[in-house]
Amino acid sequence: MSQITAYRSLSWWLGSAGEDLAPRSPLPGDADVDVAIAGAGFTGLWTAYYLAQADPGLRIAVCEREIAGFGASGRNGGWCSALFPASLAKLERMAGRRAAVAMYRAMQDTVDEVGRVAAAEGIDCHWAKGGTLQLARSPAQLERARDEVAAARAYGFGPGDLRLLSAAQTAERVQASGVLGATYTPHCAAIHPARLARGLAALLRRRGVAVYERTPVTEIGPRRLRTPHGTVRAQYVIRATEGYTPRLPGLHRALAPVYSLMIATEPLPPAAWDEIGLAGRPTFGDYRHLIIYGQRTADGRLAFGGRGAPYHFGSAVRPEFDRSPAVFAALRRSLGELFPALGEVTVTHAWGGPLGVPRDWCASAGLDRATGLGWAGGYVGDGVATTNLAGRTLADLVLERDSEITRLPWVGHRSPPWEAEPLRWLGANAGLQAMSWADRQEARTGHPSRLAQFAGRFLGG
Ligand SMILES: Cc1cc2nc3c(=O)[nH]c(=O)nc-3n(C[C@H](O)[C@H](O)[C@H](O)COP(=O)(O)OP(=O)(O)OC[C@H]3O[C@@H](n4cnc5c(N)ncnc54)[C@H](O)[C@@H]3O)c2cc1C
Repeated sequence: MSQITAYRSLSWWLGSAGEDLAPRSPLPGDADVDVAIAGAGFTGLWTAYYLAQADPGLRIAVCEREIAGFGASGRNGGWCSALFPASLAKLERMAGRRAAVAMYRAMQDTVDEVGRVAAAEGIDCHWAKGGTLQLARSPAQLERARDEVAAARAYGFGPGDLRLLSAAQTAERVQASGVLGATYTPHCAAIHPARLARGLAALLRRRGVAVYERTPVTEIGPRRLRTPHGTVRAQYVIRATEGYTPRLPGLHRALAPVYSLMIATEPLPPAAWDEIGLAGRPTFGDYRHLIIYGQRTADGRLAFGGRGAPYHFGSAVRPEFDRSPAVFAALRRSLGELFPALGEVTVTHAWGGPLGVPRDWCASAGLDRATGLGWAGGYVGDGVATTNLAGRTLADLVLERDSEITRLPWVGHRSPPWEAEPLRWLGANAGLQAMSWADRQEARTGHPSRLAQFAGRFLGG
């Protein structure tokens, strides 16, 4: 398989991004810049974007091991959502009630900011702000839906942010099996993530930002990035390597790479969409513990994913982990159960990738002024919009601008390291297994399972 074909087959998104994905030039040798960034996923690209916007004279170099959008940013479910991996209650414990609410409001604004930039810069990422429908398909799931709405209300979020739908109201929006109700939030857009990532990288190059591809960073240190092609010296160095971070020296326990896998169907005929619904392209999932997520793509496919692949010993990240026939088959079964109208529809694509999970499930962004080292990540499965907030935040920190977003509670937060192996492997996989058992138990009994609480200790924050 040629290199380009290999990149195109990483996800349906990368294969349909409308580009040949030929790698651009690597770093030509030692370089001196103002800001050096490791990783050209959304975090690295948004950071470079806002820095270049604020000061077009800044010298910025992004070093990417493969190609822009190679990681989770080119492979995800395309939910550009206001979801943040730490709950309001947890943020309140960390930083107080006002800070928790400010974080969630900032996430809501961020969804619109992504849409605004894409439109302003002419990046056609198939943006459709149709919100999210989270279905409740058992009494236990309905209880969680109600609890979520009650928690939102307790923090001052009204029906315009999240509301409960009856089974009949849900059926007006989507025809799925076993639905007892749902929640609806307007704060989410369905996007084609690879078109956004590739569009941003192309835009940056036009603005004079150096985006070097096939340039692995072997070490990140104060004021420098080392690569086999040379060293980049910079006043500020930003780590934007998410699920791949544990491979870097000294960062082995910073984040655990957990795999999420996806499938995409062939385009469905209009009659099938008439039956299923999802007009306006709301993203959808349900209240099971082991997350599932889906979107109706702009060209009429169902792109559908979920967790469930195991965590790999030693935080290993390898191409073969992107694919698991057993998980793909389980996703196809789940999709068929959700939408019986699908019948024998063909799954044309299947892929996956690592996301970055911090030990306390709280994403963070920050900059240590003494060393010039900055970072953002630990988004778990909620990075599509959060990376934009990270990029704006890092740009403000680098430019020493005291702004509302630099005062948000995730800024400067340090997650504790993961346990050493084999504890990490045992705990993470026991947690994943417990979630899966809890879902099966709830599907059988309808009642909330206590196994989920056990899972939460290790994999639920
Ligand atoms: C299957 C899947 C579905 C998901 N669905 C959603 C969703 O629907 N909504 C949502 O909000 N989030 C979702 N996520 C999470 C989201 O995609 C990520 O949080 C987000 O893309 C992270 O962006 P990033 O730039 O930080 O990391 P990445 O996109 O992973 O980028 C990191 C980049 O750094 C490069 N890199 C790593 N190490 C080095 C090195 N040493 N030297 C140079 N380059 C390096 C990698 O090649 C990669 O390109 C999903 C993730 C996956 C895997």
